[in-house]
Amino acid sequence: MIHAIKDLDLNNSRIAYGFMDNALDFKLENRDARKELSGYIPAGFNKKDMYIYEVKQVHGNNIIVLNKDFRIKDEDDYYGLNLAEADGAFTQKTGIMLCIRTADCVPVLFYDRIKRVIGAVHCGWKGAYTGIIANAGNILTDYFQSNLDDVIIIIGPSICKNCYEVKEDFLNKFIAKNPLNQKFFKRNADKNNLFFDLKGFLKNELSINGFNKENIHDLNKCNFEDKNFYSYRRNKTDKRQVSFIII
Ligand SMILES: [Zn+2]
Repeated sequence: MIHAIKDLDLNNSRIAYGFMDNALDFKLENRDARKELSGYIPAGFNKKDMYIYEVKQVHGNNIIVLNKDFRIKDEDDYYGLNLAEADGAFTQKTGIMLCIRTADCVPVLFYDRIKRVIGAVHCGWKGAYTGIIANAGNILTDYFQSNLDDVIIIIGPSICKNCYEVKEDFLNKFIAKNPLNQKFFKRNADKNNLFFDLKGFLKNELSINGFNKENIHDLNKCNFEDKNFYSYRRNKTDKRQVSFIII
């Protein structure tokens, strides 16, 4: 099923977004999966000229802008192999369904309700650590002239702070970057295991990079606990759920 699908009428545009669970193992090169996914777009969107857009997620901090001139020239080539290496995309262009695939990492969707910009970003710990949220903020302010107060952020199904177990060197890496990062780690009392609050870290990143806390909406679903979602950490699956946003 699809979670939290929203169909919003904003400033003469419509924006829809949603989070699939394991009802769909989404792969861009799989035409059936694409067809199924496009079936979740609300009525009224022009599905004929719609593109499902995905980046080749590489756990980096690079985000792509699809500008007005962006065209998908060769559908087979595009859908097959030659995806841009990045971990997110932003656009104002209509008819592009931005997709992020995850199975523990955090899908973060953005929309500017005034400038009508949408974005979808894949945030694992590496992207979070290397400033992917700051990059998202910079793209919105510098490229799209967004006022970050107008930007709504939706955090999708991802691993929660009680389930994301990490090692000491992981903690040390974050502390070395900033001692205040300690607050995103906790130990359980009996076993002394260490857990990381990736979503808490990302919310803090959003906040310190100028986004408004009031605009951050967390679906509060842990894909590790909820077996309706895929989780790599739970069973090493190679399957992924998809989060999308379209204008
Ligand atoms: Zn959890």
